[in-house]
Amino acid sequence: MPRQPSQTNTQGSQARGQARNAPIDEPQPFWKGKALEAFTQPEWESLCDGCGRCCLVKLEDEDTGEIHFTDLGCKLLDGETCRCSDYRRRRQRVRDCLKLTPESVRSLPWLPPTCAYRVLAEGRNLAWWHPLVSGTPDSVHDAGISVRGRVAALETEVKLDDYPDYIVSWPKKVPKAAKVPPRKR
Ligand code: SF4
Ligand code: SF4
Repeated sequence: MPRQPSQTNTQGSQARGQARNAPIDEPQPFWKGKALEAFTQPEWESLCDGCGRCCLVKLEDEDTGEIHFTDLGCKLLDGETCRCSDYRRRRQRVRDCLKLTPESVRSLPWLPPTCAYRVLAEGRNLAWWHPLVSGTPDSVHDAGISVRGRVAALETEVKLDDYPDYIVSWPKKVPKAAKVPPRKR
């Protein structure tokens, strides 16, 4: 039953003003202030922003050990939705597709700086464009975080020897459009 307004109306303007300014105990979003190990499976899955960056082919320099991103997509990556086209069976179909765990996200050196798992593992906050914050999956594309429109080819469409020609640096960077929320530009 809605609370009657008469009680606050009898307190005078100062009391009403105080009531409006009083801090409200809003529940914390589930991803804040929690150890990675404490997430439920649905919460863990929902942390993925759907950028698709981790589904780009990566090459390791044999001499230096440095890992380079290419703009070649995994054979199951949909370059438009930026999602896996067979997520349920991905690990049967792609031998080196990794299952991210709290332990692995702390140790994988190549996870993009924008990846939510890396962000939380480093104690940072999810950015404005993360779908859990913005409320829409579109923001990850609008902010230039996703691979949409940037996948040159799928790994199966290019000869292995030519992979180094596709090395790019942008998956390791935060694009300008992602740094400032649209309303502040
Ligand atoms: S880089 Fe991280 S947030 Fe982006 S698709 Fe991969 S796991 Fe999800
Ligand atoms: S199998 Fe799917 S989830 Fe795994 S790397 Fe390829 S596109 Fe990404």
